Amino acid sequence: MPDEGARLPSSLLYLVISWKLGIGNWGFAEGRLRSSNARDMKYDLLAAAARFHGHLGPWLVLGLKAGAYARKKLAASPFELRARVFCPAGTPYTCFVDGVQFSSGCTMGKGNISHHRAAGCRVEFTRRDKPGRVRLALRPEIWTELHSRPSRGMAGAARLGREFAGRRLAELFIQ
Ligand SMILES: [Zn+2]
Repeated sequence: MPDEGARLPSSLLYLVISWKLGIGNWGFAEGRLRSSNARDMKYDLLAAAARFHGHLGPWLVLGLKAGAYARKKLAASPFELRARVFCPAGTPYTCFVDGVQFSSGCTMGKGNISHHRAAGCRVEFTRRDKPGRVRLALRPEIWTELHSRPSRGMAGAARLGREFAGRRLAELFIQ
């Protein structure tokens, strides 16, 4: 069994060193020291998206993660990319659409995103005039999890959203 007392100083030392060296982009957000390394979503993106959408929640974060991944994977500008989102009409599912809009740059205003009523939740990204496609479907177990542990109020949704931001894409979506 690991000795927490013995491990604490070295992990604290690592935190201070990595923070000083800028490894993992340590920074303060909402009064807490946070990392925005490869696994965690950039914390300022979460805050900005929450301001845009009006609140932070898991469906918004799922959309953010999907859109950010597609932008990176397809190396496309927001003008080249096109998103087709498939999910039920109405909140909380359509919060996913706002997340996709915010991180992918595919927006209603530019006309390069469309919502299609469907059971489940998935998104397809393509590039204009170029090959390449990203398809992400929410894992059934995540769909079940979101329906079996409904978040209580805005604070609960925000907490769950932050938790989802720390999960790997493969834990959330099937490609
Ligand atoms: Zn929402």
